[in-house]
Amino acid sequence: MNLNIGVIKGDGIGPEIVTEAMKVLDKVAEVYGHTCKYTQLLMGGASIDVHGVPLTDETVAAAKACDAVLMGSIGGDAGTSPWYRLEPSKRPEAGLLKIRKELNLFANLRPAVLYDELKGACPLKEEITEGGFDMVIMRELTGGLYFGERSTGEINGVLTARDSLTYNENEIRRIAKRGFDIAAKRRKKVTSVDKANVLDTSRLWRNVVEEVAAGYPEVTLEHMLVDNCAMQLVKDPKQFDVILTENMFGDILSDEASMVTGSIGMLASASLNETKFGLYEPSGGSAPDIAGKGIANPIATILSMAMMLRYSFDLDKEADAVEAAVAKVLEKGCRTIDIMSEGKTQIGTEEMGNLIAESI
Ligand code: NAD
Repeated sequence: MNLNIGVIKGDGIGPEIVTEAMKVLDKVAEVYGHTCKYTQLLMGGASIDVHGVPLTDETVAAAKACDAVLMGSIGGDAGTSPWYRLEPSKRPEAGLLKIRKELNLFANLRPAVLYDELKGACPLKEEITEGGFDMVIMRELTGGLYFGERSTGEINGVLTARDSLTYNENEIRRIAKRGFDIAAKRRKKVTSVDKANVLDTSRLWRNVVEEVAAGYPEVTLEHMLVDNCAMQLVKDPKQFDVILTENMFGDILSDEASMVTGSIGMLASASLNETKFGLYEPSGGSAPDIAGKGIANPIATILSMAMMLRYSFDLDKEADAVEAAVAKVLEKGCRTIDIMSEGKTQIGTEEMGNLIAESI
């Protein structure tokens, strides 16, 4: 297969961690007989330095012509970087918002995986995490409370603020379908999270999700109220496979789920639209504090690349191989500084990439 991939190396540690992910991908291509065509794209601070804006229309067009985009992270130190003296619409993060909008990336997918080898980094009790856990949170990204009408003003002399929460059936249906597609490739369970005992949007959510579920008889659906889900994530995280939820609930729950896995350097993410296209990036930022030191953990980017293989190219065997290679290197006791613990061997970004590539 020919993989037509856009690459946004980005800022800070971005170029270091993306280089390692490409190294592993090249090894996958070699072993499994694929070819990779990479198109380098500028976004964030790197684009500001060249074009004066964080994302040009030409770059958006070039990204759209790719099958998927692999991204590092963008942005700099807000206190010292000249990028943050620009007006907000010209700062690095504006590029991220623009690309999500232009590519209609309405579904955000964040896995929370606890590797048995890293369970020491998990703040939960050992009896809860024994054997590790492996879930993904599918969060609606372009609707709901964060995009509703809002206002602040005086009503009868009292200062009053208002935010509105709206979802239509189409917005719910398209993310539910993506959620069930992903569950069908995993352990075949969807937990749809809402607040249907209170909110109309949640009651519509529940009805539409049930209607979509009828088309996926092999996937089990359960509903859970968001307050209960917040508790269950720390009480029994192993019960979850795919958590499907709206924007604000997903924002909160995905941070809670990622916290229980340990380091930010391990957290992959994907933003998807209705087609097979996706933007794959680590959940962390550009870590300007460690940029250029060769110590950043490339695993989140490597695991994001594995998600790209699985969800944009349907190369499940290859994605499994990448995930197994990561687990193997961790089993050997190799650690970057952020996941280092006593008795393990500390290695740098490049060495971690080399070891994972060699394990493919
Ligand atoms: P950050 O995630 O960059 O860093 C937080 C802490 O985690 C730092 O101590 C950093 O060294 C560490 N860390 C992050 N990734 C790591 C890795 N791969 N390996 C080892 N350690 C890692 O968050 P921040 O400091 O709040 O933000 C820095 C910049 O990143 C800001 O400009 C912010 O806007 C931007 N940002 C970008 C994205 C994105 O591109 N999607 C997301 C979040 C933040």
